[in-house]
Amino acid sequence: MPSEFELIKSHFTHATPHTLLGVGDDAALIKPTSGQVLAVAADMLVGGHHFFMDADPASVGHKALAVNLSDMAAMGAAPRWATLGIALPKADARWVAALSQGFMKLARRHGVDLIGGDTTKGPLNLCVQIIGEVPARQVLRRDGAKPGDDIWVSGTLGDAALAVAAKNKRIKLHSAELKRVMQRLDWPVPRVALGTALRGVARSAIDVSDGLVADLGHICERSGVAAVVAMERLPVSALLRRYLERPVAQAALLGGGDDYELCFTAAPAKRAAVERAASRVRTPVTRIGRVIRAPEGVCSVVVVDGDGLPLEVRQKGFDHFG
Ligand code: ADP
Ligand code: MG
Repeated sequence: MPSEFELIKSHFTHATPHTLLGVGDDAALIKPTSGQVLAVAADMLVGGHHFFMDADPASVGHKALAVNLSDMAAMGAAPRWATLGIALPKADARWVAALSQGFMKLARRHGVDLIGGDTTKGPLNLCVQIIGEVPARQVLRRDGAKPGDDIWVSGTLGDAALAVAAKNKRIKLHSAELKRVMQRLDWPVPRVALGTALRGVARSAIDVSDGLVADLGHICERSGVAAVVAMERLPVSALLRRYLERPVAQAALLGGGDDYELCFTAAPAKRAAVERAASRVRTPVTRIGRVIRAPEGVCSVVVVDGDGLPLEVRQKGFDHFG
């Protein structure tokens, strides 16, 4: 079995064109672009919890970076540098090679340098830290939403959570369907280009990692506002639409995580600018609701049906009130 140092040398030492000093010393050296602030985030993926233990290691490497890129997107930041901490039960060179390949392919696509990390024995666990850059005045924060803002979301919601439900036998899908939704779960596409395109256009943003209602709820809390979202406007894949009568699919849509779409708010005067920004980066966006003043200070997210009546959003789906 390869040693820790052999693993690092073979699989985690790559060219770092945007870096003063990369892997191999006690610390990496980076030089931020002047006039920009650094956006720093970390996300951990625990084997058996954040990914299935039988998942393709290339997809695990991809996802470990993708979820961090998604955090950069949600800040309007351009991702630049990443570190990768790994705990492995054993030094399985083939597994590590595939992991590194999945990670590096996505890193190169986004011009991200892998500048360091740590490799140790332990229960399977990956921790990626990412550093991005964004002009100080154009940061997309969670606390910028204002009453009257439109609420937007990119792509479609719920497919990744539907894959988890299928894996856990809470819904049965045809094998082609399962393949489709597993792709969304294992190979998420972070909306990095949309995030930077929304600089100066959106007023607040978050990435949907825990479910639309929960994540939009974070914008509401941080901004001191509430949100009304129209169930019928929520963008879903044709696949999820086929199951939309089922509570498990509704729960995936409203409360399922792992989509890594962007949810953002923008003034109605920016509607055309949002559409232009989105089409420039070829990312579909849908207007799903509106920010309102928090009623009695309650920063809630209300989902309404076609008649404008609130739906009760529960962990496992929702019901009409009363
Ligand atoms: P130290 O003993 O100073 O922590 P290490 O021997 O752990 O140094 O690491 C040697 C070099 O390899 C460092 O530059 C470190 O950042 C890098 N490194 C270790 N593990 C990884 C990894 N999984 N991915 C990228 N770089 C790594
Ligand atoms: Mg170390």
